[in-house]
Amino acid sequence: MSEKPIYFNELDMKELEKEKDSIIILPIGISEGHGKHLPVGTDTYQAEYVVEEVAKRLDRRSIIAPILNYGTCKATEHLYGTLSIRFDTLRDIAYDILTSLTDQGFENIVIISGHSGKSHMMALRLAAEDVLEKTDVDILLLSGYDFAYELKGDKVSETDGHGGEIETARIMDIKPNLVREDRPRKEVKHPEFKVISDYGGHWPEGMRGNADEASKEEGKEINEYVIKKIIRVIEDSF
Ligand SMILES: [Zn+2]
Repeated sequence: MSEKPIYFNELDMKELEKEKDSIIILPIGISEGHGKHLPVGTDTYQAEYVVEEVAKRLDRRSIIAPILNYGTCKATEHLYGTLSIRFDTLRDIAYDILTSLTDQGFENIVIISGHSGKSHMMALRLAAEDVLEKTDVDILLLSGYDFAYELKGDKVSETDGHGGEIETARIMDIKPNLVREDRPRKEVKHPEFKVISDYGGHWPEGMRGNADEASKEEGKEINEYVIKKIIRVIEDSF
């Protein structure tokens, strides 16, 4: 446990050379439209917050790598604020960053993404798999939403999703001043098997769920749940 997280960029070359056994945590953010009530940096803020808290509380020594603040999101590219890079671009960037780290001898890497879109996560997964083809290291790939959405169905609607109650609550905890007061409710069902390309027509506001039911207290509970789950996964894996 360290009082404050250690940042890769604050260390010098000699110090980093001695950190090969440390866990490197790579945060991934994105700018993306999240309904009219949340800032477009929502996924970046979630990634930064979770990564800092995880790094502070881990028993193993860990270092926070510079955030990669771009990703892939097709489903919200019709919205102002979404800055999406292509699948192959993300795969290439992630591959290059992971290769730089492993070439320098770092063997324990955790990627934590704020955004959890399927193609975004798949690009990161394929990049990690390509790195594992040439070197024997351990890489974990997770998003806070692997755990946060486990909480759907009890107090939160089963159809809660992007920009909905869970995500809004999490940002009310992390960046309360950035959540707008008028928080919408939107019932949008994603068809289970149908392929969609017209996302603008499908969900014009890019959000679904009952954002008006979110609270800061609920957000704190969800964030704690996510942080503890991620810590357990990391401690069980390295
Ligand atoms: Zn998000």
